[in-house]
Amino acid sequence: MSADVVPPQAPNLYDAEPIPAAAMAEIERLLATGDLFRYTAPEGAPVARLESEFAALMGVRYALAVSSCSAALFLALQALDLAPGARVLVPAFTFAAVPSAVVHAGCVPVLVEVDDSLRVDMADFAAKLEGAAAVMISHMRGHTSDMDAIMALCDARGIPVIEDAAHSLGTTWGGRKIGTIGKIGAFSFQSYKLVNAGEGGMFVTDDPELAARAVIMSGAYEYNWKKHPGLQNSYHLWQNRLPLYNMRMQNLSAAVIRPQLPLVAARVAQGRANHDQMADVLNATPHFAVPPALGPEERAPDSIQFRLVGDWSDDQARRFEAASKRRGAAAQVFGLSPDNARAFWNWKFLGDTPDLPKTRTMLMRTCDLRLPARLQSGDIAFLADALICAAEEARAAA
Ligand SMILES: *Cc1c(COP(=O)(O)O)cnc(C)c1O
Repeated sequence: MSADVVPPQAPNLYDAEPIPAAAMAEIERLLATGDLFRYTAPEGAPVARLESEFAALMGVRYALAVSSCSAALFLALQALDLAPGARVLVPAFTFAAVPSAVVHAGCVPVLVEVDDSLRVDMADFAAKLEGAAAVMISHMRGHTSDMDAIMALCDARGIPVIEDAAHSLGTTWGGRKIGTIGKIGAFSFQSYKLVNAGEGGMFVTDDPELAARAVIMSGAYEYNWKKHPGLQNSYHLWQNRLPLYNMRMQNLSAAVIRPQLPLVAARVAQGRANHDQMADVLNATPHFAVPPALGPEERAPDSIQFRLVGDWSDDQARRFEAASKRRGAAAQVFGLSPDNARAFWNWKFLGDTPDLPKTRTMLMRTCDLRLPARLQSGDIAFLADALICAAEEARAAA
């Protein structure tokens, strides 16, 4: 048996999809004119058009395009004008960039337990809420926590909620779009998200003051804020009173993103079909459990997470990882790969973090597999079969 040859029929889970051809004409026009800066054109710049299209897509009043989702999260905290050292609740299951944005804004992240459901543990959330200045809910891998319970607890205390919707474009909760339920939402256009621009992010809100503050701080210096629609009075108030962090998006990125927005609905439908097909197969085995969506949640997955069920040793879990890779469905256990940026104990930049036993237990047995929307039903069947064979192999080994 040759150990490292992946079966030829294994689908490629890492390659991106081509960018729609419509982007090319626009990019050629931008290159020919050199018009790359969002504020050069008096009106109708690609970034400005993207903002109005994204605001319409999400049904929000204000959308601000920025350099990344992390920048949007940072600007959200700055726009809220939190005191230095303010406590911000963050789920302990997220990407390291999220607590990093909190640190960047001079605040202190307070990590909240996430259990086997991959959602925020509401008892721990409620216990830690007292004294928090803001809540940043990261819908990690698109899994939506109980937004009704979170909003009720936070609204009762006047605590603003920021939604990290980096991986939730197209997800709905009770018919409402994720990213528009809290005071501010943040989205990502980094290559591993539903819309791929290499890098990029979006800040959305209905609040005019927060929008004005974020627009200025993102780098709308002097009178460039006049190129953002609405609320000129608010802008005037903040001009030169807020720092300019210069986290703007450039026109080339907008040219890559805009032709992908009309594809979002189809990608969401395909991603959901792929995910649910695989979840049905995996849940029918004794080896795996795919956490179900909460009642009001309609997901937009581009990956699948599943738990190794029963009594698995770390060695067996590692063997499963290796076997799945060899069989062409390389699943990763979040907590087992060294220095994984999604395991809270690796966030050493936070200093000493409390142990979070529920989150730790979940991370040590929960697997992650990319499922790009371009996969077809036959690919999903192949991948599910590879995972099942890998589990049987890992469990059979002494
Ligand atoms: C990708 C991701 C981010 C960071 O997005 P960037 O655009 O790379 O800054 C934040 N949160 C989650 C849940 C993500 O998946």
